[in-house]
Amino acid sequence: MHSNYIDVHSHIHDKVFDADRDQLVLEMKEKGCATITVGTDFIESSKAKEVAEKYNNVWFTVGMHPVDNRNEAFEKETYRELLIHPKCVALGECGLDYFHIKEFEGNKDAEVDRQQRLFMEQIELAVACDKPLMLHGRPDEGMDAYEDMLFILGNAKKKHGEKLRGNAHFFVGTVDIATQFNDLGFTVSFSGVITFAKMYEEVVRVVPLEMMHAETDSPYATPVPHRGKRNTPLYVEHIYEKIAEIKGLDKEEVREQLVKNAHRVFGLTF
Ligand SMILES: [Zn+2]
Repeated sequence: MHSNYIDVHSHIHDKVFDADRDQLVLEMKEKGCATITVGTDFIESSKAKEVAEKYNNVWFTVGMHPVDNRNEAFEKETYRELLIHPKCVALGECGLDYFHIKEFEGNKDAEVDRQQRLFMEQIELAVACDKPLMLHGRPDEGMDAYEDMLFILGNAKKKHGEKLRGNAHFFVGTVDIATQFNDLGFTVSFSGVITFAKMYEEVVRVVPLEMMHAETDSPYATPVPHRGKRNTPLYVEHIYEKIAEIKGLDKEEVREQLVKNAHRVFGLTF
């Protein structure tokens, strides 16, 4: 399948799409739009696999989000079974989320420790299965979660070299943090937030076009001009356009390069 647009991070296996998913994916196909539907725990990852098996313009990832399902114990072997599926294109989303860390008060260190162990286990599994990582990072103060992720990834890089790779999804960090991800061989992806929040313009401008993606994170984070509606991968087009506008580049050149990037980083097959 030839794609005009690839949304590298959505959750179209989510139940909010159950009623009209067939129709949505058909419309995406007509417009040459493809997506990667991202798992956040074992049940969600299994659903993502079922949806990807059904449509040729949908791939999937499996992984355990740092905070979405704190009750699940990470079972490496059951995840491995999903991960080796031919349409599984990454391990994730995984990483560190310190946004609600204050709620842990006395147990803050234990929660940080739990998240870091879970992240490190998933890094090792991704490398063992030769898959890229789909990273989730959400800082609380300053760039704290990103800094800890970069420290962990930096150590893993020394051990695994080129085998360690991937993308930092829904990037909300600084130019310096983006550069550090790029130096470790990770791309960063921008969501619909860049269509309405000016604070990301500098980082979009500075990161090389070859080292970034556009994503919707559907059904969340709807871009302008569709704010207030349910987000879908069809709206990724607006994020492509915003990247072209911020970087002052030709729309078509940006579109072609972003499609190439998605194929390169996630090894997407047509
Ligand atoms: Zn997501």
